[in-house]
Amino acid sequence: MTVSRRAWHKMGVALQPQQSLLSKLMLRIVQFEYDAIRQHGEETYPHECCGVLLGRTDDHIRTVIRTVRCGNTRSDSPHNRYHIAPQELVHIQRQAREAGLEIVGFYHSHPDHPARWSQTDLVEAHWIGCSYVITSVERGQAKITNSFLLAGELEEDKRFENEAVSVAAEVATIANESTR
Ligand SMILES: [Zn+2]
Repeated sequence: MTVSRRAWHKMGVALQPQQSLLSKLMLRIVQFEYDAIRQHGEETYPHECCGVLLGRTDDHIRTVIRTVRCGNTRSDSPHNRYHIAPQELVHIQRQAREAGLEIVGFYHSHPDHPARWSQTDLVEAHWIGCSYVITSVERGQAKITNSFLLAGELEEDKRFENEAVSVAAEVATIANESTR
Protein backbone atom coordinates (compact mmCIF):
# COMPACT_ATOMS: atom_id res chain seq x y z
CA MET A 1 0.00 0.00 0.00
CA THR A 2 1.25 3.42 -0.81
CA VAL A 3 0.61 6.43 1.34
CA SER A 4 -0.32 9.59 -0.47
CA ARG A 5 1.47 12.85 0.17
CA ARG A 6 -1.68 14.23 1.69
CA ALA A 7 -1.94 11.27 4.08
CA TRP A 8 1.62 11.82 5.18
CA HIS A 9 0.81 15.43 5.74
CA LYS A 10 -2.23 14.54 7.87
CA MET A 11 -0.06 12.24 9.91
CA GLY A 12 2.16 15.19 10.61
CA VAL A 13 5.07 13.87 8.64
CA ALA A 14 6.90 16.67 6.93
CA LEU A 15 8.08 16.04 3.38
CA GLN A 16 11.63 16.60 4.43
CA PRO A 17 13.70 14.11 2.43
CA GLN A 18 12.77 15.52 -0.95
CA GLN A 19 13.04 19.11 0.19
CA SER A 20 16.49 18.60 1.64
CA LEU A 21 17.64 16.94 -1.57
CA LEU A 22 16.47 19.87 -3.66
CA SER A 23 17.94 22.43 -1.32
CA LYS A 24 21.34 20.86 -1.94
CA LEU A 25 21.21 21.92 -5.55
CA MET A 26 23.20 25.07 -5.80
CA LEU A 27 25.10 27.14 -8.29
CA ARG A 28 27.87 29.21 -6.81
CA ILE A 29 29.28 32.05 -8.84
CA VAL A 30 31.76 34.82 -8.24
CA GLN A 31 30.31 38.33 -8.15
CA PHE A 32 32.36 39.55 -11.10
CA GLU A 33 31.05 36.83 -13.43
CA TYR A 34 27.51 37.14 -12.08
CA ASP A 35 27.57 40.81 -12.97
CA ALA A 36 29.10 40.00 -16.38
CA ILE A 37 26.20 37.67 -17.24
CA ARG A 38 23.65 40.33 -16.37
CA GLN A 39 25.56 43.04 -18.21
CA HIS A 40 25.75 40.85 -21.31
CA GLY A 41 21.95 40.57 -21.27
CA GLU A 42 21.63 44.34 -21.12
CA GLU A 43 24.08 44.84 -23.99
CA THR A 44 22.31 42.49 -26.41
CA TYR A 45 18.81 43.68 -25.47
CA PRO A 46 16.28 43.37 -27.13
CA HIS A 47 18.00 40.20 -28.37
CA GLU A 48 18.96 37.23 -26.21
CA CYS A 49 22.54 36.89 -25.10
CA CYS A 50 24.13 33.53 -24.40
CA GLY A 51 27.30 32.09 -22.99
CA VAL A 52 29.02 29.23 -21.21
CA LEU A 53 29.78 28.76 -17.51
CA LEU A 54 33.17 27.25 -16.66
CA GLY A 55 34.13 25.92 -13.28
CA ARG A 56 34.01 22.79 -11.19
CA THR A 57 31.40 20.38 -9.91
CA ASP A 58 31.53 19.00 -6.40
CA ASP A 59 28.68 16.69 -5.48
CA HIS A 60 25.50 18.75 -5.98
CA ILE A 61 27.23 22.10 -6.17
CA ARG A 62 28.51 23.64 -9.34
CA THR A 63 30.95 26.50 -8.95
CA VAL A 64 31.34 29.04 -11.74
CA ILE A 65 34.81 30.52 -11.92
CA ARG A 66 34.72 31.96 -15.40
CA THR A 67 32.06 32.83 -17.98
CA VAL A 68 32.56 32.93 -21.72
CA ARG A 69 30.40 35.07 -23.96
CA CYS A 70 29.08 33.47 -27.11
CA GLY A 71 27.56 34.97 -30.18
CA ASN A 72 23.87 34.17 -30.50
CA THR A 73 23.75 32.43 -33.88
CA ARG A 74 19.96 32.52 -34.07
CA SER A 75 19.32 35.02 -36.83
CA ASP A 76 15.70 33.95 -37.41
CA SER A 77 14.40 34.83 -33.96
CA PRO A 78 17.16 36.28 -31.74
CA HIS A 79 14.73 38.05 -29.42
CA ASN A 80 13.42 34.81 -27.95
CA ARG A 81 15.80 32.08 -29.03
CA TYR A 82 19.48 31.42 -28.61
CA HIS A 83 21.97 29.03 -30.08
CA ILE A 84 25.68 28.48 -29.55
CA ALA A 85 27.58 27.27 -32.60
CA PRO A 86 29.02 23.76 -32.06
CA GLN A 87 32.48 24.83 -33.27
CA GLU A 88 32.49 27.64 -30.72
CA LEU A 89 31.51 25.20 -27.98
CA VAL A 90 34.28 22.76 -28.91
CA HIS A 91 36.76 25.61 -28.81
CA ILE A 92 35.55 26.76 -25.39
CA GLN A 93 35.64 23.20 -24.04
CA ARG A 94 39.26 22.81 -25.13
CA GLN A 95 40.25 26.09 -23.49
CA ALA A 96 38.45 25.07 -20.31
CA ARG A 97 40.34 21.77 -20.09
CA GLU A 98 43.64 23.55 -20.54
CA ALA A 99 42.72 25.79 -17.59
CA GLY A 100 41.70 22.78 -15.48
CA LEU A 101 38.05 23.71 -15.67
CA GLU A 102 34.95 22.09 -17.12
CA ILE A 103 31.71 23.32 -18.62
CA VAL A 104 29.27 23.45 -15.69
CA GLY A 105 26.45 25.30 -17.41
CA PHE A 106 25.10 27.81 -19.85
CA TYR A 107 23.41 31.15 -19.58
CA HIS A 108 21.04 33.22 -21.67
CA SER A 109 18.70 36.16 -21.24
CA HIS A 110 14.95 36.61 -21.58
CA PRO A 111 14.26 40.10 -22.96
CA ASP A 112 10.96 41.31 -21.46
CA HIS A 113 10.10 37.82 -20.23
CA PRO A 114 10.35 36.20 -16.78
CA ALA A 115 13.52 34.43 -15.68
CA ARG A 116 11.88 31.04 -16.04
CA TRP A 117 12.69 28.29 -18.51
CA SER A 118 10.46 27.83 -21.53
CA GLN A 119 9.46 24.57 -23.16
CA THR A 120 11.84 25.45 -25.98
CA ASP A 121 14.65 25.91 -23.46
CA LEU A 122 14.04 22.39 -22.15
CA VAL A 123 13.82 20.83 -25.61
CA GLU A 124 17.08 22.49 -26.66
CA ALA A 125 18.99 21.73 -23.46
CA HIS A 126 21.10 18.59 -23.77
CA TRP A 127 23.80 18.84 -21.12
CA ILE A 128 22.34 16.78 -18.28
CA GLY A 129 23.95 17.68 -14.97
CA CYS A 130 24.66 21.24 -16.10
CA SER A 131 23.12 24.48 -14.85
CA TYR A 132 21.06 26.71 -17.11
CA VAL A 133 21.06 30.30 -15.92
CA ILE A 134 18.40 32.69 -17.14
CA THR A 135 18.33 36.46 -16.58
CA SER A 136 15.22 38.49 -17.25
CA VAL A 137 15.96 41.83 -18.89
CA GLU A 138 13.13 44.35 -18.71
CA ARG A 139 13.37 47.39 -20.95
CA GLY A 140 17.10 46.95 -21.15
CA GLN A 141 17.70 46.42 -17.43
CA ALA A 142 18.72 43.06 -15.95
CA LYS A 143 16.22 42.07 -13.27
CA ILE A 144 16.13 38.53 -11.96
CA THR A 145 18.73 35.81 -12.45
CA ASN A 146 17.67 32.21 -11.79
CA SER A 147 19.36 28.88 -12.30
CA PHE A 148 17.93 25.50 -13.24
CA LEU A 149 19.69 22.19 -13.13
CA LEU A 150 19.05 19.90 -16.09
CA ALA A 151 18.30 16.72 -14.15
CA GLY A 152 17.51 13.20 -15.29
CA GLU A 153 19.37 10.28 -16.77
CA LEU A 154 18.51 10.45 -20.44
CA GLU A 155 17.20 12.81 -23.08
CA GLU A 156 13.77 11.19 -22.56
CA ASP A 157 13.40 11.96 -18.87
CA LYS A 158 15.37 15.20 -18.64
CA ARG A 159 13.80 17.98 -16.63
CA PHE A 160 14.71 21.32 -15.07
CA GLU A 161 14.92 21.63 -11.31
CA ASN A 162 15.17 24.94 -9.48
CA GLU A 163 18.49 25.53 -7.84
CA ALA A 164 19.73 28.29 -5.58
CA VAL A 165 22.22 30.83 -6.86
CA SER A 166 24.90 31.82 -4.38
CA VAL A 167 27.04 34.80 -5.28
CA ALA A 168 30.49 34.89 -3.70
CA ALA A 169 32.84 37.82 -3.40
CA GLU A 170 35.91 36.31 -5.04
CA VAL A 171 37.40 33.25 -6.69
CA ALA A 172 39.88 32.51 -3.89
CA THR A 173 37.11 31.89 -1.39
CA ILE A 174 35.40 29.44 -3.67
CA ALA A 175 38.61 27.66 -4.66
CA ASN A 176 39.58 27.15 -1.03
CA GLU A 177 36.20 25.83 -0.08
CA SER A 178 36.01 23.40 -2.95
CA THR A 179 39.34 21.77 -2.07
CA ARG A 180 38.25 20.99 1.49
ZN1 LIG B 1 15.05 30.84 -22.73
